[in-house]
Amino acid sequence: MEIKQIFESYERRKHEAFDTWMHCPKCGARCALLPSGRSKRLRCPQCGFVLYRNPSPGVVALIVRDDMILLGKRAQNVYKGEKWCLPGGFVEFEEDFLSAAHREIREETGLSIKILSILSVVSNFFSPELHTLVVVLLAEKISGALQPGDDMVELEWFPLSGPFSLMAFEADEHIIARYQQTKLAGAPVDPQFAFP
Ligand SMILES: [Zn+2]
Repeated sequence: MEIKQIFESYERRKHEAFDTWMHCPKCGARCALLPSGRSKRLRCPQCGFVLYRNPSPGVVALIVRDDMILLGKRAQNVYKGEKWCLPGGFVEFEEDFLSAAHREIREETGLSIKILSILSVVSNFFSPELHTLVVVLLAEKISGALQPGDDMVELEWFPLSGPFSLMAFEADEHIIARYQQTKLAGAPVDPQFAFP
């Protein structure tokens, strides 16, 4: 099966990836968009602050049980609301990505997990305002009872072969299909962080 790790929801080369955040977060002066290397960056003419923009880092987990996987239905008021996805979320600044996965899965599903491996890493270009870089983990439940929380309103085990409810993210659909078809083992995970 084809391996895919870059997902584009819009034609990113036609857009300049800058929004309206134009004031310096340090001194409040109005920033200017200036050339910097191969791209342009917002720079403060008063104090010299440079705004580096990066994709937001996230983690998702393919939680498997026999030939089933756990999917969650997204709340109505979040991005891609009412569609289904792998549970996960954003990595906080002070957090490593594996601890972020344990925290997000506990918040969204009520489960404690063992992280088995790193299945993939994907770039998502959702819109000019939202780019993410997501580590896809393979995991299994070790304890807890299903309890949707945070951005999830419903949780359900689906057969790996589908059919699935309407999915929010192409990257999730791709990794589920690849896992199902090729029984991906993934890269080993740091054993110190495999358990919560
Ligand atoms: Zn400034």
